[in-house]
Amino acid sequence: MHASEFAHPNADVRMRGFAQRTTVEDALAWVDSAVPEFGKLGVEDVSLLNAARRVLARDVTSRVNVPGFARAMMDGFALVADDTLGATTYNPLPLEVLGTCLPSQAFQGTVSAGSAVRIMTGAPLPEGANAVLPIENAQFDGQRVLVLGEVSPGKHVGQLGEDVRAGDVVARTGQLLRPQDIGMLSSLGFDRAPAIRRPRVRILITGNELLPMGTSPTGFQITDANGPMLAALVTRDGGEPIMGPIVPDDRDAILAALRADADVILVSGGSSVGQEDHVPTLLAEHGELAIHGIAMRPSSPTGMGRLDGRLVFLLPGNPVSCLCAYDFFAGRAIRALGGRDRDWPYRRLRAQLTRKLVSVVGRVDYARMRIDGTTAEPLAISGASVLSSVTRADGFVIVPADGEGFPEGAEVDVYLYE
Ligand code: AMP
Ligand code: MG
Repeated sequence: MHASEFAHPNADVRMRGFAQRTTVEDALAWVDSAVPEFGKLGVEDVSLLNAARRVLARDVTSRVNVPGFARAMMDGFALVADDTLGATTYNPLPLEVLGTCLPSQAFQGTVSAGSAVRIMTGAPLPEGANAVLPIENAQFDGQRVLVLGEVSPGKHVGQLGEDVRAGDVVARTGQLLRPQDIGMLSSLGFDRAPAIRRPRVRILITGNELLPMGTSPTGFQITDANGPMLAALVTRDGGEPIMGPIVPDDRDAILAALRADADVILVSGGSSVGQEDHVPTLLAEHGELAIHGIAMRPSSPTGMGRLDGRLVFLLPGNPVSCLCAYDFFAGRAIRALGGRDRDWPYRRLRAQLTRKLVSVVGRVDYARMRIDGTTAEPLAISGASVLSSVTRADGFVIVPADGEGFPEGAEVDVYLYE
């Protein structure tokens, strides 16, 4: 035993097993209370070229009108709408064509009754004109145009400020920037957007048996699955993953890695109550181990707490448990810290169970499903270590703690992985 553990006899939870497991509900409540309020992470200006899916930190107000001038919305002829009254293919009305108006070029002159100007989409409407006759309703011989149909005043004209008026709020605090929002901001003259800083999430992979990504498993060693998987999850949830080297099951090495700079620390492996599971004790001694052991399957050896002002999540090393524990607790914290909706980003589908789904009262179950149309087939699973049980699955069903599962044919909500 490490000397410092004698000073904290109650801190060593290892080998005693989990005397009592926290409910999923209480663990979620702890996450929600531990996450600082929206916006605490501060604001950074990001280039519009890197702004996709970032969370807007402030309302954005337009300083300009779009369009900034009345413009043609179709190729055709700018004219006085009244000049088209009564025009049909059987009653073509002739107008004198004064010239052509192209985008970015104003027509030098005025359109008056009896005249028209050829105009292209996006070009400024010439003075005097109040409508555009589409090219399809015109016959042009180079000098005169024959009007073959009526247009009403304002027809095919984009009015000044019709899209956006100066002073309009075009994007709101807390929203995710979508491609169309980025286009809008650019059209208003912005090149950057104020975004909530992404939480920096340190991914700490522990385990003497682990080889780094890119290495074939050999002998009694296995290759890390959790590091790249967690990085993908963190990125999905708007965090910035920071990946260090794999850390051995060694107290000093783990403590040093826990103290590296970050907003959130995810520790994979060593989270349980075994001989080599140092993380819970370290957290209890040097920070706060708020929760350890949760009434759920998989992922029961999950823990969470704080160290030096950071949120720390202890995720079991079994890849499926790791994924599930991340999704239940760490992902929620990361999304909330970054100003995102804290709830799952998964779409839900109502489906019928092809087989009964058994569970134990008092425990939440995360059951992987294969989906075929609107039926859900529970995947036979032999423990939390089988990563293929989630790669073969299309989604999962949550069996609540107060139930014994669902009978065959029951309608359930399936959360779809993608
Ligand atoms: P632990 O939570 O450290 O007790 O690990 C539980 C199981 O998950 C053990 O069989 C480990 O070898 C395995 N494991 C731990 N970390 C990883 C990882 N990063 N990638 C894949 N398997 C892991
Ligand atoms: Mg381990």
